[in-house]
Amino acid sequence: MNVYDSARMADVLAPLGYRLVDAPDGADMVILNTCHIREKAAEKVYSELGRIKALKRAKAESGGSMVVAVAGCVAQAEGEAMTERAPVVDLVVGPHTYHRLPELLARAERRRAAGDGRGRGIIDIDFPSDAKFDHLPAPTHTQGVSTFISVQEGCDKFCTFCVVPYTRGAEYSRPVGQIVAEAERAVAAGSVEITLLGQNVNAYHGIETKSGETWGLGRLIRHLAEIAGVARIRYTTSHPRDMDEELIAAHRDEARLMPFLHLPVQSGSDRILAAMNRQHGAGDYRRLVDRLRAARSDLALSSDFIVGFPGESDADFQATLSLVRDVGYAQAFSFKYSVRPGTPASMMEDQVPDAVKEDRLAQLQALLRAQQAAFNRDQRGRTLPVLFTGPGRHAGQLVGRSPYLQPVHAIAPARLIGTVVEVAIESVQPNSLAGRLAAPTPAANDERVVA
Ligand code: SAH
Ligand code: SF4
Repeated sequence: MNVYDSARMADVLAPLGYRLVDAPDGADMVILNTCHIREKAAEKVYSELGRIKALKRAKAESGGSMVVAVAGCVAQAEGEAMTERAPVVDLVVGPHTYHRLPELLARAERRRAAGDGRGRGIIDIDFPSDAKFDHLPAPTHTQGVSTFISVQEGCDKFCTFCVVPYTRGAEYSRPVGQIVAEAERAVAAGSVEITLLGQNVNAYHGIETKSGETWGLGRLIRHLAEIAGVARIRYTTSHPRDMDEELIAAHRDEARLMPFLHLPVQSGSDRILAAMNRQHGAGDYRRLVDRLRAARSDLALSSDFIVGFPGESDADFQATLSLVRDVGYAQAFSFKYSVRPGTPASMMEDQVPDAVKEDRLAQLQALLRAQQAAFNRDQRGRTLPVLFTGPGRHAGQLVGRSPYLQPVHAIAPARLIGTVVEVAIESVQPNSLAGRLAAPTPAANDERVVA
């Protein structure tokens, strides 16, 4: 989502004459778009600001000036504390107000011109009642072959470990029309893959203005799949509780919906899931996976896990390992529980010692790595549709993505970038696959191949 938000910030600033550059050195403005989900992510911001301070000084010494802004959820959570701890910061802007960047910049500029306000940054971390999406200009920065579109933001679930409901705020779904317009624009600019984003994307319930109906994610996906030129649709991140019939049916019926689903479970222990306020048990999750696989037999799964949640016993952790063995994942993210100030879990007794967390994480990751390696090995000898996204590491090579998001390398002409082509997988590296084009390639003037 931060990739999407960053592109939208660039859209907002473009009319002021700003354009994106590759590196912060010498830039007129640097925006750090930040994540607050775990302590490590948040701490990185301050160390990065140290580096930017030197760049800002160098720019001033050469007679110029650099505006330093911090955006995203660290900005939202820290607010004024941010400029106190890091006076290099001129602007603090939350995820709900970045459409106001031009106005905030003008205020910062006025302060600077008046010689006032060293260490007194401009802060805007409101939760406005109207959605930023209604104020953002049409996207002008294209994301390439594959485009992220935010369809839902925020969360009302309040898992006890998580900061999202506090930083991203209450659940909000964008109206259908806005999303369709954004998808059509992305396709017109060359995108063939659309990834629908939300902290709780399958809680989506957007208004379709013409009919006045409320659409769920399944309905939205079926509609977007009808846009000519859309070859692939994905969505992330979903919550097991919001996986409704219509969405499961979309997995069965809609070939363009990729058979790869990120479905976080966090833990395999019912006791821990209850303490996390996940509102589902391990059995519910197993049954859901069975229903999804019955709908789409080639569906591969990815997940998120937290080890060392307060009170997690060895038996609880074993239940997580057992769930992983039963489900079998193609890929997964796993984290040590990180205390987030203000969340209910941060105040729970029985915090798990770091050494125990380390040990559990290592065990879990070894199992997940082995499953991922086995999943990748299984692709050898198969033919997979690959969406080529750009040049590969070696001359003459392109890189693309399989339906399961594995990077795939193959010798192929550059004109195949942005098309889906069948590739016979010949070898498997730890993090990628390699193969050769399986079918005759389309002529240069062919528009696009849709697998
Ligand atoms: N809405 C999604 C998750 C969004 S947060 C869901 O409900 O599944 C992304 C991931 O960060 C979570 O799935 C979780 O595994 C991890 N995470 C969130 N808070 C965390 C914390 N305090 N410590 C460790 N990991 C955390
Ligand atoms: Fe955080 Fe996801 Fe739980 Fe919402 S559902 S509180 S985003 S982990």
